[in-house]
Amino acid sequence: MRRLPTVLVVEDEPAIAELIAVNLRHSGFRPVCAIDGVTAQAEMDAALPDVVLLDWMLPGESGLTLAKRWRNHPRSKTVPIIMLTARGDEVDRVAGLDAGADDYIAKPFSTKELLARIRAVLRRRAPEHDVATVRVGKLLLDAATFRVSYDDQPIKLGPTEYKLLNYLITHAERVHSRAQLLDQVWGDHVFIEERTVDVHVKRLRVALGEPAAVMVETVRGAGYRLTERPEALATSRSIAA
Ligand code: CA
Repeated sequence: MRRLPTVLVVEDEPAIAELIAVNLRHSGFRPVCAIDGVTAQAEMDAALPDVVLLDWMLPGESGLTLAKRWRNHPRSKTVPIIMLTARGDEVDRVAGLDAGADDYIAKPFSTKELLARIRAVLRRRAPEHDVATVRVGKLLLDAATFRVSYDDQPIKLGPTEYKLLNYLITHAERVHSRAQLLDQVWGDHVFIEERTVDVHVKRLRVALGEPAAVMVETVRGAGYRLTERPEALATSRSIAA
């Protein structure tokens, strides 16, 4: 089963946001709505969408400011952004594209056109998604979109838990010591204590929830590993049998 592409709709006018959301749902997308820069940033931090529809005129930070920030951040720089706005003249269109928007659509727009533009930016980004997907059992990590799911259910991870899982899943079934994980996941931060790893492993397990959490195994005296067949399950199965 394919997961539905997520579209973050950043729009402060509820009627327009609802209209867009309804149309997206009918067309096989999963809309996530945000009414301003603060809620939009929270959604971006929780899980990167496949596409952002970004209204220009928002209370607080403008869509233009948000587009610039996301485009300049390594984590979000590849997420396609379509600017949505009442401003239709050429100067504004150029400013939007300069800020890093992939496309631009002026209000009022037809939902048909909007959907066509979304599909177009997704097609352009598609090859990156394919190469960057790693799966162990039912656990899936898509490095192009920073999304994680288990059995097609999305899982929200903090940035460190995401990096930790990214390392474990791309080096699955192998045991990694805390020192190795610090090197690989935290980089050169030698001042970080090894128990920091334990704290983040714990958080990762909580975020994954059952049944995925048991896939992150503690190997006594050695470290951690991500495995498709956790010992805990193997033991309970052999007891049951
Ligand atoms: Ca607006």
